[in-house]
Amino acid sequence: MADMYCGNCKRMVGTKKNLTGGIVCILIGLALLLFIPMIGLILGPVFGLIGIVLLIAGGKRCSVCGGKNISRVNPDAASDSSNSNSNSSP
Ligand SMILES: [Zn+2]
Repeated sequence: MADMYCGNCKRMVGTKKNLTGGIVCILIGLALLLFIPMIGLILGPVFGLIGIVLLIAGGKRCSVCGGKNISRVNPDAASDSSNSNSNSSP
């Protein structure tokens, strides 16, 4: 499904989910809870929260270049110029 516009590729691209980092963080938290109860009780939830944040924030990436500079719609179709990007490309 090529339904996302990549600002780097300048075209519609497909997306892929990068879930590895978040899953690894959650697994590290679980391992800490299981094997090191004293420290794991403190660090386990921290790693779990970081993993969940990574799963949500670092979700979609461009499947061509792997960049996160993607938007849901083509900027040619959407005339809403309310982006706060400060690209130095005239
Ligand atoms: Zn791209």
